[in-house]
Parts: sequence; structure tokens; C-alpha cells
Amino acid sequence: MPGTEVLCPSLGPRELRGRDGGPESLSMSLDSLYQEIILDHYRKPRNFGDLPEASISMEHENPVCGDHLALHVQLRDGAVEDIKFQGKGCAISMSSASMMTESVKGRSVEETRSTIESFLSMLRGESPDEQVLGDLVALQGVSQFPVRVKCAALAWTALRQCLRQTEG
Ligand code: ZN
Repeated sequence: MPGTEVLCPSLGPRELRGRDGGPESLSMSLDSLYQEIILDHYRKPRNFGDLPEASISMEHENPVCGDHLALHVQLRDGAVEDIKFQGKGCAISMSSASMMTESVKGRSVEETRSTIESFLSMLRGESPDEQVLGDLVALQGVSQFPVRVKCAALAWTALRQCLRQTEG
């Protein structure tokens, strides 16, 4: 089945569906949609590549899974003017990075910070604010798998650190 092999070895499609997603349940169809969003970002990552004009770049690794990510952020007038990432890793880490760049590009640094905090608290198991997070709620199921939380958080902690370093 295409797609299965790109996921982390310990994260089969069944795990992505969550604990109680019986084949006929509504939650199962929602989770399948989420799985599709995740795989779409993994196969066609948005904002992938180098950004020579970056104000700051940061490399982060998740040795547990082997994910490696370089994040490039270009800030201007208190906003994230452009953001790109490069790297290699499992579907969760790469799709989370792709979705992150899409969600914060063009936003103010302040909005970006609150999106980061909302996302990371969702990974800690808190209910997500869908208005802030949008498609990012696709990664909510990851919070059930502590090892995968690190994959999903990788790009976000890198971005948070970038913003901290530019605080002056
Ligand atoms: Zn990973």
C-alpha cells in the first residue's frame, strides 16, 4: 500500500487513527482525513529549500527517530516574511514542518509565538484551538504516542528557538 512505508516504523496507519477508531466510527473517517493531510505534506512539502536571505537558521535533530531539520526564517517588521526548511525524517516530522511553515508564513512574530504555544500544548494532550491551528489539528492524534511527539515538535521547537535568538 503506497504511503505505509514512509511512516515511522512504529507508527503504522492504524496508530494514526487513534485508539478507539473502529472501522465504522465517525472518528475513523476524520482520522483518515487527517492522515491524508499528513501524507500530502510529507509527499509535497511546502516551503522546502534553502533561504539565503534568512535572518536566522537553526538545525535541530531528534536522535530517537533520526529526524534532522534545518529551519530558515526571514523576519521583517515584526513578521515572518519568509520561512523554509530542509532536512530528512519521518512523515510526522516532515509534514509537521511543512504545515508549520504554511501556517506561520506572513504572520506577525506575536501570532507565530502563540501558534507555537497552542501547537505544543496540543501535543501535550490539551484540546486544540482549531481557530488558531486550522489543519494543524491533523497532528493531534500524535499526542497519544510520546515517542512521536518529539517528531511533531521538532520544527516548532526550532522555530521557537529562532524567535528567542532574535529577541535581542
Ligand atoms: Zn520522526
